[in-house]
Amino acid sequence: MAPPFAKAAILGIGLIGSSLARLFRKEGLAGRIVTFDSNPLHRQRALELGIVDDAPGDLAEAVRDADLVVVAVPIGAYAALAEAMGPHLAPGAIVTDVGSVKGTAIRDLAPHIPEGVHLVPGHPIAGTEFSGPEAGFAELFEGRWCILTPPEGTDEAAVAAISALWAKAGSMIEIMDPATHDRVLAITSHLPHLIAYTIVGTATDLEGAMQQNVVKFSASGFRDFTRIAASDPVMWRDIFLNNQEAVLEVIQRFTEDLTALQRAIRWGEGDKLLDLFSRTRAIRRSIIDAKQA
Ligand code: NAP
Repeated sequence: MAPPFAKAAILGIGLIGSSLARLFRKEGLAGRIVTFDSNPLHRQRALELGIVDDAPGDLAEAVRDADLVVVAVPIGAYAALAEAMGPHLAPGAIVTDVGSVKGTAIRDLAPHIPEGVHLVPGHPIAGTEFSGPEAGFAELFEGRWCILTPPEGTDEAAVAAISALWAKAGSMIEIMDPATHDRVLAITSHLPHLIAYTIVGTATDLEGAMQQNVVKFSASGFRDFTRIAASDPVMWRDIFLNNQEAVLEVIQRFTEDLTALQRAIRWGEGDKLLDLFSRTRAIRRSIIDAKQA
């Protein structure tokens, strides 16, 4: 049987791009897999790993005749990339992406997508703290959600084709509007990362002896934050700059709640602490029940 796509162009062969390349290979989802990445070492490595058939140093060549284009670069690079690839996209092609913020992804991609090419933005809720072509694996998306945020009037067949692709990855699919996506992710992903970056940053500012103790006794909780705070710095800079409004809103609420806790500790209000800690334990239980732990 012919693969669903004749030529898939993956732009950015990092954690997510290389995981998709491996998946396409494993599941036979594309006749040819090519990548364009601004990092020549990553292009070279992708070829060596055998996860792509070609890795041209020219974006136009990569997307030419591709019936599927997957944008998998940091969000801050979208606008320039879209402008450069737009004129070379094949009629009828589907352009999708994996970016962690959807409002600005659509803002930066859509104006450069020519008539007759379909844009189906997406975001797999899956990842690790590692980057680059070595870091990917085909099973990354298994049992995870993938949110699609197609603009109104998007070709239904194109949405179905991208949904089918994520279903092959083992993902569950949810269609959402971009603003809702960005608000949900601000609390479930962006704020936790910001908190982790803050805590680890605070620890690195401590004086010498204290810092050594932080590393030594990190298993008491700190360690889990360091994993999150080891995530790609460029990617996360771009996420915060691109989801400004929703992130600032949740930071405000978080700050108020933190102040309330600070007050409860100061005045010895153990019942307030106990009440919150009991409610949060229940949330953990529901995440485990939903198999997202
Ligand atoms: P990554 O491992 O750093 O991969 C990104 C790749 O794109 C790197 O090879 C990078 O090269 C390259 N690149 C950077 N700018 C480029 C440009 N202008 N043109 C072409 N290539 C460029 O990052 P990732 O984790 O795969 O993230 C990619 C996208 O997926 C981001 O938009 C992110 O928001 C989204 N996402 C990430 C996760 C996650 O957990 N990591 C989860 C879901 C979605 P250099 O390394 O040399 O810069």
